[in-house]
Amino acid sequence: MQRHIAFVCAPLYRRAVQLQKKGEHPHAVFRSSRCKVGVQRQVRFTVPGLRATAVMPTPTQAPVRVQVPRRELGEKAFGFTLVRSEFVPEIQSYVRVYKHDRYGTELISVVNDDENKTFGVAFRTPPSDSTGVPHILEHSVLCGSRKYPVKEPFVELLKTSMNTFLNAMTFPDKTCYPVASTNLRDFYNLVDVYLDAVFFPRLTPDTLAQEGHHIELDAVDQPMSIKGVVYNEMKGAFSSPERVLMSASQRALFPDTTYGVESGGDPADIPQLTWEAFKSFYDRCYHPSNARIWFYGDDPEDMRLQKVAEFLDAFAESSDRPPSMDPKATAISVQKRFAEPRRVELPYATDESGKFYTTVNWMLHDTVVSLDADRMLSLVVLDHILLGSSAAPLRKALIDSGLGEDVLGGGLESDLLQMTYSVGMKGIAQEQDTERVADLIFETLRKLSSEKLDDNLVLASLNTIEFRLRENNTGSFPRGLALMLRAMTTWLHDADPVLMLRFEEPLKKLRERIASGEPVFQKLIQEEFLTNTHRVQVVLRPDPDYAKRTEEAEQARLAALKQSLPAAEIEKIIQETQRLRAKQAAPDAPEDLAKVPSLHVSDLDRKVKTVPRHAENRAEGVTILSHPLATNGIVYIDVGFDTTQVPSELLPLLGIYAESLFEVGTHREDFVALQRRIGRDTGGLRAAVLTTQQVDERGDGAVIQRLFLRGKATANQVASLFDILTDVLHEIKFDDRERIRQLVVEERAGLETRLVPSGHVMTASRLKAQYRRSDWVNEQLNGISYLRYLRALQKRVEQDWDQVKADLERLHQCVISRQGVIVNVTYPQIDEVMSHVDAFLEALPARALSAAADTNAAPALDGVSLRPMNEGLVIPARVNYVGKAANLFDAGFRVHGALLLAARYLSNTYLWEEVRVRGGAYGGFCRLDPRTGTFLFLSYRDPNVEKTVDIYDGACDFLRRIQLSRDEIDKSIIGIIGDMDAYELPDAKGFNSALRYLTGETDELRQKRRDEIFSARIEDFRRLADALAQVREHGSVVVLGASESIRRAESCLKLERVEPALPGTDV
Ligand SMILES: [Zn+2]
Repeated sequence: MQRHIAFVCAPLYRRAVQLQKKGEHPHAVFRSSRCKVGVQRQVRFTVPGLRATAVMPTPTQAPVRVQVPRRELGEKAFGFTLVRSEFVPEIQSYVRVYKHDRYGTELISVVNDDENKTFGVAFRTPPSDSTGVPHILEHSVLCGSRKYPVKEPFVELLKTSMNTFLNAMTFPDKTCYPVASTNLRDFYNLVDVYLDAVFFPRLTPDTLAQEGHHIELDAVDQPMSIKGVVYNEMKGAFSSPERVLMSASQRALFPDTTYGVESGGDPADIPQLTWEAFKSFYDRCYHPSNARIWFYGDDPEDMRLQKVAEFLDAFAESSDRPPSMDPKATAISVQKRFAEPRRVELPYATDESGKFYTTVNWMLHDTVVSLDADRMLSLVVLDHILLGSSAAPLRKALIDSGLGEDVLGGGLESDLLQMTYSVGMKGIAQEQDTERVADLIFETLRKLSSEKLDDNLVLASLNTIEFRLRENNTGSFPRGLALMLRAMTTWLHDADPVLMLRFEEPLKKLRERIASGEPVFQKLIQEEFLTNTHRVQVVLRPDPDYAKRTEEAEQARLAALKQSLPAAEIEKIIQETQRLRAKQAAPDAPEDLAKVPSLHVSDLDRKVKTVPRHAENRAEGVTILSHPLATNGIVYIDVGFDTTQVPSELLPLLGIYAESLFEVGTHREDFVALQRRIGRDTGGLRAAVLTTQQVDERGDGAVIQRLFLRGKATANQVASLFDILTDVLHEIKFDDRERIRQLVVEERAGLETRLVPSGHVMTASRLKAQYRRSDWVNEQLNGISYLRYLRALQKRVEQDWDQVKADLERLHQCVISRQGVIVNVTYPQIDEVMSHVDAFLEALPARALSAAADTNAAPALDGVSLRPMNEGLVIPARVNYVGKAANLFDAGFRVHGALLLAARYLSNTYLWEEVRVRGGAYGGFCRLDPRTGTFLFLSYRDPNVEKTVDIYDGACDFLRRIQLSRDEIDKSIIGIIGDMDAYELPDAKGFNSALRYLTGETDELRQKRRDEIFSARIEDFRRLADALAQVREHGSVVVLGASESIRRAESCLKLERVEPALPGTDV
């Protein structure tokens, strides 16, 4: 339900770390169907009548292991008073609210048996302009503090902690600093650094210059330019039309409040931020009386209180600020309702083929303070009814209309004081169609509010939401953090923080109301949408000259400024530029770096984390894997079909084929009925295509290609889940041309939208494809090649449908068979589900259509020959993604755990410093894929091209020169082990274990790598240097970026080919 995180900063850095974290399978790339069906659990409904009873309600008793200190309400401890204490069964936790005696700071202590401990400190930070002051502060407080006087303690922690989450987030009205770790000592190290950062940062005008904005000038005859980390970040963010639209939609609804400005900062406004405004915003907002502190997990409660008390006491001693700031200074005012609907139109930067975007946005009636939990839940279910799946009537009406390429707008938004709703479309060809989209939205809503809603539609949504709430599967995101953000909805505005954590009562009431025949949702649609005049339609108009005009206007402004300045001032700017650069380049003093707390190598577990796995090999190559893990009553099932026999011309069609499995319907039911059945009777089903390769000495093992069908259900839903799978696999009907066309258009539009923001992923994919066949397949299925294929496929669906349909049918026959299938079950009582598995397998066709049986169709991989090549791919953006790669196996090296360590060190030091801090890119890093041996340098949102390649080429000299103390090597070891031991929920544990089984990555091999890491020495870093000399000499370069930048670099980088990433882009 949290969709509106404005900025999760340093995302690239996180992504790089997370990629390593998935480190177990860095090479397995998924293209996964969007999970339009959510998750649900153990709820049986009797139809009709809509009476529902939870078979497995949330237990109301705490597990014995969970204990809180005995303390009466009103009792004091560590300068806090306990003001509230209760057991919340929905989250199996004690929730206790403490209030600080001096500052009134509220601290919520959630005690349970989750080892993934979470801490967060949040401040109410409503901005009054779009200079991005909250966002710049979020970056700035992490740039050194009283106890940790180094340039970026945050980066030090990323390098050397075992964190499962470490980041900061700026929302429209708050700034959050959360951390998580499963290691107690590590957790408190992180808490200490974060508390010191927010209450005692070393803010100076230089911090604002570096993180916010400053003018750079190298010489008198050079042009001036604006630089700054957030300035660059927001320029990048605003090059995405969807991001522009999201911002504009919110701002248009709240012209009179803080939500009417851009908290992340508008690049046009950021340079107006002064040091005085910056400092006074900090003083006003970052005060203990405006802080909300959250702890969650299995650490002792008193430790929490003691740690925070330490900082608040120090604050009292050192700060001259009063014990309480005026709470009104950060209170968020209520937007007055519009008497009439409004309309806003804005230009956005696009290439020639630009299309229109539109959303219709409502401000709902309640504030999150006045709202009760029942109404909130009703709205959440209504949102799912309207938009939650491809069968949802509002989503379906929009898609069916063909007016645009995909549905847009996040639906219900409950992160702001006043809730909003947003829906629209992207990829609209004609301006007048933006009106037709709005008309269609109203027409559909009117229809829904006047008719009785289909029972199965309501049940599917109710079940899906309930399953989601109970399973609380947050993936790699810590559960404690998801709950903190949920509590923050009300807590931020001084309302009941526990309200949003409970759901049993509201669920029960909602079920009863529905059962009694009350038209709950029709009424809501009427009140919140149809008769609500507080709404705005926002239209984004494509403007091919917009980027150029903005750029020219900025340059003209700077040129005029330079003209107006006396020579002495100009000289001063040149000197300042040099001074700032020198300051950024100066290393931290070793004694200061040593102050940043870290674990010791001795705190780490030498043994690799293993997952229990039982493998049963049957006739016909069938494998059954099972993992007896505690899953809270949920059965997770993955069925993997071998796709290596797919002929080459059908290979790229696998994605759309997988996407269509649950989306086109069968001979028995159309896709709407199928989707509702999945929502009603299971916890969700999706298909994913996986490509990886077998572990092999030369990093060139057999390619593994699988189509995975992944589902979840409660034990007594397993039969229904397999029924649905069997129906789909036996009865699927590829007749519906329009439906397939919609899927292709959605897929294409989605990938095109991600092309620029995920340019580094595309660049990496393109480069890796030059070295290994498995990566080549991945590029065909996910990369630029795939995007080009989709464009052609869309035309084929329109012009040559019969052939496309025949291809889909042939693909289905090539893939679905019992031969070589793998079934992976994660659940403690495997026996309970085995009979269903057996029956399902029995019903599968014995053999697939083989490619060889087909005249002139060889398996896709037979004809592949790989060749490294320098390539420039032009995209309509003002930023570049620069990659360089080579395969170390091919250059005669062997992958060793210590090389992985050295590569990670290089990312965190040299590349971070040179590509990000000095080069002005948003990120720069490298990766060594242990399975293939491909080494890859990458930059993210980079203003440079050749300069970045020079930095890559300098990496081997950097590694040859470095002197590393044992302590520094140990810190790196801690960091990489932290990545490798990433926290996983049981479904992820079971699935990753199955992937390791497929690739032959044994626990012995993993242990060997781990041992190699622990025994790393400086010589290993030098060994990587030798390998990187090979990358420098023989590596290939791929640049995805702006036309101008690529043209400038073309001869210097010896680009063999320069072409638009997508046909139709101006080169
Ligand atoms: Zn940021």
